[in-house]
Amino acid sequence: MPKLSFDIDAVISGRSRLTDDQALELYRNASMPDLGEWAMAVTQRLHPEDYRTYVIDRNINYTNVCTAKCTFCAFRRDHDDSDSYTLSYEKIGEKIRELVAINGTQILMQGGMNDRLPIEWYEELLWYIKTNFPTVHIHAFSPPEFVEFERFFGMDVREIIRRFHKAGLATIPGGGGEIFNPRVRRRIGIGKCSGDDWMRVMRVAHEEGMNTSCTMLIGHIEFVRERIEHMSALRDMQDYALQGLRTEDSELGAGSAAVVERVKSRWPGVFAKSSLSPQSSVLSPGSYTAFIHWPFQRENTPLGRAKEWDEATYGPFDDSTNEDVLRGRVVRMAGADEYLRTLAIARLFFDNIPSLQSSWVTMGPKVGQLALFFGANDMGSVMMEENVVSAAGTTYKLSEREICRLVRDSGWVPAQRDQYYHVLRRHDGPDSPDLRPLANPPVRNVRKIDKQFIGAAPGLDDGQDRSVRVQLPILSATDGPPRGIGG
Ligand code: SF4
Repeated sequence: MPKLSFDIDAVISGRSRLTDDQALELYRNASMPDLGEWAMAVTQRLHPEDYRTYVIDRNINYTNVCTAKCTFCAFRRDHDDSDSYTLSYEKIGEKIRELVAINGTQILMQGGMNDRLPIEWYEELLWYIKTNFPTVHIHAFSPPEFVEFERFFGMDVREIIRRFHKAGLATIPGGGGEIFNPRVRRRIGIGKCSGDDWMRVMRVAHEEGMNTSCTMLIGHIEFVRERIEHMSALRDMQDYALQGLRTEDSELGAGSAAVVERVKSRWPGVFAKSSLSPQSSVLSPGSYTAFIHWPFQRENTPLGRAKEWDEATYGPFDDSTNEDVLRGRVVRMAGADEYLRTLAIARLFFDNIPSLQSSWVTMGPKVGQLALFFGANDMGSVMMEENVVSAAGTTYKLSEREICRLVRDSGWVPAQRDQYYHVLRRHDGPDSPDLRPLANPPVRNVRKIDKQFIGAAPGLDDGQDRSVRVQLPILSATDGPPRGIGG
């Protein structure tokens, strides 16, 4: 590879922080093997444990009615669409009951932004869940929903967060981050909050003592420098959350005060005044616990009908002067290489966000597994249900058994975690989800060898044969193949 203009070893060891320009340099010049090796070294430094984690949760999309019209969305409906819905508390309860039955620990509950639901509907829902399922962690309502709640309820977001927190909301997912840059956001997130507002909601949540996650959607109309700008904003806001404490009135050390000044002067819109001040009773501010990015899925979406970029027609994408590219009429999709490249650079860039998740839901099991070697330390969720991304054409689904197998085959012990990344169960023993024999293994390619029937079973339940060989019971010469075995 061409020589870098900076000392990458200092970044890997944590002695220096990657700048925005250096991140761009890596995008342009670093090879995939180098990026993987460097990101892996950082991951091993931050997560030297012998395990890699996952969480069991269920996505509950409580309504698909939405006031926004994101051009990458195939999920939203208007009130009068025949398939619009809002789930009842009982229906939501039923879904949670099914989750608890498989050792699930949390729900990720997000909706469209439905202007006909009052704040009491949400508070009662949270109370209902907390009362009936006290062990279930409620990770719910992304920043764009909170910004719309401000408008729907005529209330400051701090008051809404406080009321929801009191009713049982534990943490806030980073949905709707997309790309913060207004050029991109105006075109893909029609009716959705600005990047400043997204970060403002999370700042307030952190100040109120709640943890959150953060996200980025790649592979649509954004330039690489806009991805870096997005990550840079998140890293700054994490600096603020970790070092800036939660109030301007606090006694800050000189270093922390400088951080506050730097972040405020760079992102003034995030610090728009609110009518309420942070509570002094919050002892420990929250922060971003994880970063997750994934590529845009185009099926069934308005943006998916845009022209696809090719170099011969449009010239270089980044720094393009082509009017169609600049106006967001051309999409540049991200494949596995672009996803992994971005992941590795994110691991090198985020020296203050502990966890990076693999996005196997959009990338599939193989790339999802490879992500563990490009900076991810967590496999995200074993999802009982997912509606939003799948509406745009993604169909990957993995069971706990399959996720454990992917982690173990990569050289780590699989471990179930909670939302705070505490390990709940390590899977070392023979009763681990991936090591337990299947009750009725699907067997293929059955052959009779030495009076035995030998078949091959898929190692994973996704229909792909990984040639795990199984020996079927010895049968008498007159017996045919055991029942239920296909050829
Ligand atoms: S992505 Fe979310 S906010 Fe945007 S239209 Fe779809 S449901 Fe609404």
